[in-house]
Amino acid sequence: MFDTIVCMSDLVPQYAWINGSLQPLREAAEIVELRRAVESFACARRAERHPVEVGEDLRELRHLIDVLELDFSRRAAAYAATDQAEREGSATPQDWIRHECRMSGSAADAAICAGEQVRALPQGEQALEAGRIGFGHFTLLARTARALTSSPSAEPFDERPLLAQALAHSVGRFRHDCAHARHAADAQAALAEHVDVVEARYLELRTGEDGAMFLRGFLDSVGGATLRTALEPLARFAGAEDTRSRGRRLADALVELSSHALDSGAVPATRNVRTHLQVTATAETLSGAAGSPAGELEHAGPVPAATVQRLACDAGVTRVLLDARSAPLDVSRERRLPASATRRALLARDRGCVWPGCERPAAWTSAHHMVHWARGGKTELDNLVLICHRHHWMVHEGGWQLARHSDGTIVRIPPLPERRPTARAPDGAAA
Ligand SMILES: [Zn+2]
Ligand SMILES: [Zn+2]
Repeated sequence: MFDTIVCMSDLVPQYAWINGSLQPLREAAEIVELRRAVESFACARRAERHPVEVGEDLRELRHLIDVLELDFSRRAAAYAATDQAEREGSATPQDWIRHECRMSGSAADAAICAGEQVRALPQGEQALEAGRIGFGHFTLLARTARALTSSPSAEPFDERPLLAQALAHSVGRFRHDCAHARHAADAQAALAEHVDVVEARYLELRTGEDGAMFLRGFLDSVGGATLRTALEPLARFAGAEDTRSRGRRLADALVELSSHALDSGAVPATRNVRTHLQVTATAETLSGAAGSPAGELEHAGPVPAATVQRLACDAGVTRVLLDARSAPLDVSRERRLPASATRRALLARDRGCVWPGCERPAAWTSAHHMVHWARGGKTELDNLVLICHRHHWMVHEGGWQLARHSDGTIVRIPPLPERRPTARAPDGAAA
């Protein structure tokens, strides 16, 4: 065994203290030979290749890389079996490999695990060297072997059933095969692992100076699948003129889902009051008068008049009259929600969002006043249409207009070019 005390690689790269004396570091002859081969490979002129031949090159190159990966793993495991990483100031051999070999922590751990298990997986080793499985398969096999033999009373690992699946399946599918095998061998351990991942769930909501929000988080597989299943149908392209990116559609879907939960009363009430967005604005802001201040939305701060108008379009309104010293003179509730009979007639007539091509059902819509009630529009069937969250936004904030044709059909009028809102990405670049 080596007995290195201090490595001076940073000061004198080719010397180190070995067995108490400063000695030149010898490179392994096979690595010198490999480097020469790789250098001449990297410098070689590349002839024009047909795509079929390029495909063959890729297959062969990947196989050679996999064979080298396995060799790297054997050496990584041998290194991890010593205390050399600790002597050099690293917390663990994984940490030393991660840092010195410029790898991720999980890749370093996979390499050590593959090297440690290689003797228990002779058929897997042969299959990799023959190019019948990839290094991705091998590390999964090794991690499964390690998990199933970790207790002192464990039976020796039989690689054959899983190897048969590795030979037939992609790395992605083989990952599932390994999870099934681990569950079959020890359901308690599989549950404990799942519980650990659930415990690691978090969501960070960070509000920027202008009230905008940054999200960052982590979900376990089940939580992630639940979110994805809820968001995907809402994130599909919606109706005509939908040019949003997938990222924007997913973000819109999250806002729509939250606003639907608030509208439908699905969010638990606090102090017997249904949870909903609270917006405060002057009558001038609500009617869109020039020179009026912005509205105020709870948790968001100042918001444009168009947003106030959208939020007030299908909402309960409390009117507070203030005297000259801003003391309330009178507080009254105003009805701007369609009466039950009107809403029933509206549901029967429109059945869902009226935007052409949009398939949001009635339960996912609001009643939009085509002439806003703050400008004298009536809360009556002729002035109301059902519209989904996104298209309601397009009408109020996005500058589109909806009008009813004399034959009853709905006409959409696009915004004037100068009215089109310019989206701003977090880095400030106009999108
Ligand atoms: Zn509206
Ligand atoms: Zn719609």
